[in-house]
Amino acid sequence: MDLQALEKILAELGEPRFRAGQVWAWAARGAEGFEQMTNLPAPLREQLAALLPFSSLQLQTEASSRDGTVKALFATADGRPLEAVLMRYRDRHAEHGAPTPGRRSICVSSQSGCPLTCRFCATGAMKFARNLTSSEILDQALHFRRIEPIDHCVFMGMGEPMLNLDAVLGACERLPDIGVTHRRTTISTVGWIPGIERLGECDMPVRLALSLHAAEDALRSELMPVNERYPLADVIEACRAFHSRRRRRVFIEYVMLAGVNDRYEQALALARLLQPAGDRGKPVFKVNLIPFNPSGSEFEGSGRESIAAFRAALESRGVPVTVRLTRGRDIAAACGQLAASAA
Ligand code: SF4
Repeated sequence: MDLQALEKILAELGEPRFRAGQVWAWAARGAEGFEQMTNLPAPLREQLAALLPFSSLQLQTEASSRDGTVKALFATADGRPLEAVLMRYRDRHAEHGAPTPGRRSICVSSQSGCPLTCRFCATGAMKFARNLTSSEILDQALHFRRIEPIDHCVFMGMGEPMLNLDAVLGACERLPDIGVTHRRTTISTVGWIPGIERLGECDMPVRLALSLHAAEDALRSELMPVNERYPLADVIEACRAFHSRRRRRVFIEYVMLAGVNDRYEQALALARLLQPAGDRGKPVFKVNLIPFNPSGSEFEGSGRESIAAFRAALESRGVPVTVRLTRGRDIAAACGQLAASAA
C-alpha cells in the first residue's frame, strides 16, 4: 500500500491522523482489503477502496516449489518488474502437543534490476530500472503475510540495498508490525562501504551480511566489479567497525563456484582474511557457503565434496561455517536466480 498516498487521501477526506495507523495495523496483520477494517466507518472503507489500490504492486505470477518455497513476480505501478520469495523451513515437532511452525523467511528486493553487474548473478544481467520505495518493499512482505505469518526477512532479492538505504530502512522500521523483528532482519551488501557505515550508526539492531565470494582482490574484481571501487581490505575493516559498534556477528555470503573460488588454498586465504577474532576471542564473522544455482551463467556450482572440504578447512582454523540449504531451485527462486522471469 502506498503509505504516503494513504496519508494524503485521509487528510483530503478530513479524517483524523490516527486513521492511517488503523489502516496500517490491519494491513500488517494480513488483511486482504479495506472492507475487512471493521473499526473504520463503512463509507470511509468504500472511499479508500475506490481511491487507493490495496497494494502498490501487481502480482504477475506466483510459483511454488516442491520444498514449499513460493516465488512471486510483481510489477510496480509504472511497470517495473521485481521478485520476492517466501521460504518455509520444517516445522518443529514436540513430543507432546501440536508442532511449532518452522521459520518463515522472506527474501525481498530493494531495486528493480541492479546496476552492479556481478558476473554470477541473474539479476545483474537484467536492465536496471529504479530504486523501490519503502511501500513497494513492504508490499512484498505484506503479500506473503496475507498467505501466513512470517518471522524473518533478508534483503537479498534484486538489487543492492545500500544503494537504496533510505527506503530500505524506512521499510525496516515497519517490519516488526508485520511480525519480523529487527534482530531477525538481515541487510546484505556487496561491500558498499558508505552503507555499511550508515547501518552501523542506525538505531535498529538489524543484521549485516557481506556478499564476499572471493578472498583476494583480483578474483573478486573479476567476479564483482564493485570491488574496484571498494577493495576487500577496506570492506572487511568497515565490517569489523560495524561489529565493534553493534556487537553483532557479520555474515559472510560465499557462493561456491566450481574451479573458481572453491580450492583449498582459497579457503585458507578466506580464513586468514576473517581473522583475528574480535574482543573476548569471539569470531567477528560467520561464513555461509552457498551452493551455486545454475542461472544460465558461465559458471558451474561446486560439488558436495568440494563444499565439504572448503568448510572443513575453514572450521579447522576456527571460522564458524554453515552451508546454506538450497530452497526453490526448481522455480528459479534460489540465490542468484532472481531475474524477473516466471519459473
Ligand atoms: S549479486 Fe546483488 S549486487 Fe550483485 S548484481 Fe546481483 S543483485 Fe546486484
